[in-house]
Formats: sequence, C-alpha cells, structure tokens
Amino acid sequence: MTSTRLMEARAARVRAKRRHEPKWKNPPVRIEPWECIVCDSCLRACPPQFGAIFNDGIDVKVIPELCSGCNRCIPACPMDCIYPDEEWEPTPLDRWRLAGGSGDPYLAVRRFGSRAAD
Ligand code: SF4
Ligand code: SF4
Repeated sequence: MTSTRLMEARAARVRAKRRHEPKWKNPPVRIEPWECIVCDSCLRACPPQFGAIFNDGIDVKVIPELCSGCNRCIPACPMDCIYPDEEWEPTPLDRWRLAGGSGDPYLAVRRFGSRAAD
C-alpha cells in the first residue's frame, strides 16, 4: 500500500471511530496510569498501520478503537503496565484530537520514516 493510501486508510478509520470487527478478535489494551512512567516505548512499538497509543503531554493513552489487540506493545513496556481491556469504552471525543491530525506521530512515520515524538 502506498503512503498516500495508508494515510487515507488511517483518516477513514479515525473518522469511523470504531474497531475493525470482526477481524480484530483480541480486545484492545489499556495503560494503567499509576504504573506508567511515560517512556513512550509502547508508542514506538505500536505498528503505524494501527497507531493506537498517544502521548498527550501528561499521560500515555490508548485509543481502543484504533487498537487491533496485536499486543506488540506489551513486551516493550518496562513497567508491565499494559493490559488487555475486555471492558473498553468508547474514546471521549476530546481525545480524538490526538489521532489523524498534524501532530499524529504515526502519520509522521508514514511521511518521513520517523515519529514526530522521536
Ligand atoms: S495491542 Fe497492538 S495495536 Fe494495540 S496499542 Fe498495542 S501495539 Fe498498538
Ligand atoms: S511502555 Fe509502559 S511505561 Fe512506557 S509509556 Fe508505555 S505504558 Fe507507560
């Protein structure tokens, strides 16, 4: 898939604001904020085609609708504070500002080969 098509696919998924059911069988993950040291290792481990983890300047958060449940982030975490979230709830509207805009670190990967946060 070309860079442009990847960006279009991401934009479409951000607009849809939902998981790719029934394709994604695993639950999304959540980060326990009281254990997290905000090191961004999980963000870097999350495949750009999913791009579900964001640093909002205070916490590192998962947008579950973008999370495939691939679990690539779990072994990257030095604090073991990423957990499957069977009872995930829809992302609050204000958090969606992190995804798909000019500051989206995963769009930077596709454009320039590195994340904005790197
Ligand atoms: S489980 Fe996969 S898609 Fe979800 S946040 Fe972790 S690395 Fe990203
Ligand atoms: S890798 Fe773990 S400790 Fe580091 S930001 Fe992610 S959840 Fe927090």
